Amino acid sequence: MQLIKSVSELRSVRSKLAGTVGFVPTMGYLHEGHLSLVRRAAEECDHVIVSIYVNPTQFGPSEDFEAYPRDLERDMSLLEPLGVDIVFAPTDDEMYPPGFQTYVEVTELTKVLEGASRQGHFRGVTTVVAKLFNMVQPDKAYFGQKDAQQAIVIRRMVADLNFPLEIVVCPTVREPDGLAMSSRNTYLTPEQREAAPDKARALSAAEKAYMDGERSSGRLREIMLDVLNSEPLAEVEYVSVADNETLQELDGPIEKPVLLSMAVRIGKTRLIDNIVLGGTDRG
Ligand code: AMP
Repeated sequence: MQLIKSVSELRSVRSKLAGTVGFVPTMGYLHEGHLSLVRRAAEECDHVIVSIYVNPTQFGPSEDFEAYPRDLERDMSLLEPLGVDIVFAPTDDEMYPPGFQTYVEVTELTKVLEGASRQGHFRGVTTVVAKLFNMVQPDKAYFGQKDAQQAIVIRRMVADLNFPLEIVVCPTVREPDGLAMSSRNTYLTPEQREAAPDKARALSAAEKAYMDGERSSGRLREIMLDVLNSEPLAEVEYVSVADNETLQELDGPIEKPVLLSMAVRIGKTRLIDNIVLGGTDRG
């Protein structure tokens, strides 16, 4: 496994790889969620490239860019046994050299949900992912259902800009109590950590109601809010029942696959979670 920090070296090593390349972009501080994507890439592709880069352009001015956990050595030791060929961990100067001024924007899908709460977030995500796709030139790229809107936005970008690669979305990996794994879970105090699985409980309650025949989008929203509001440490930012393709919020009865999603603050930590109902639920 080779650690590469410059684009020129990445290009040179990449050009010598024969066969298919699977790519897993991450911000590091890896957990089982990330590793599940790496394992899937290793199963499906001849070579695996993982990027580790905390991308400044996807963080708002009041967000946690500086505080975001980083530990490259630990990440490398987790990736080594999985048969990863290259870990690409570029510097900010390598990614955004002086004079940088070109951005990629998916205009409509990013107006709602995370995009509405985090101004400019997806512009940063699509820009860095487009750059990484150009650098790595993968055959397949692996993303988590945990960030459902991100996966939908990136699929759109790949289709719209004719990137010659396939996007694979993998299921959300959860802790035994249901909490979706996230590098940001490390911010939680023990008391907050106990409160954090409320999001998974809210999603399960809505899923159960759906399985029992509930098809009212408003009712599913209420069911999730009831669970979240019963947790005093959780401050709900949004709860959504939306079309799983267009991400438009639903008013009436559910007929097509729906994305149930939410963002909740526990103390200063902002956590998200989701499930899909009525379709091929990948998480
Ligand atoms: P991040 O490092 O948070 O940018 O995540 C890198 C990739 O890992 C993204 O495609 C995420 O959706 C995915 N990911 C993060 N957490 C999980 C999880 N709990 N289960 C599955 N995939 C995840």
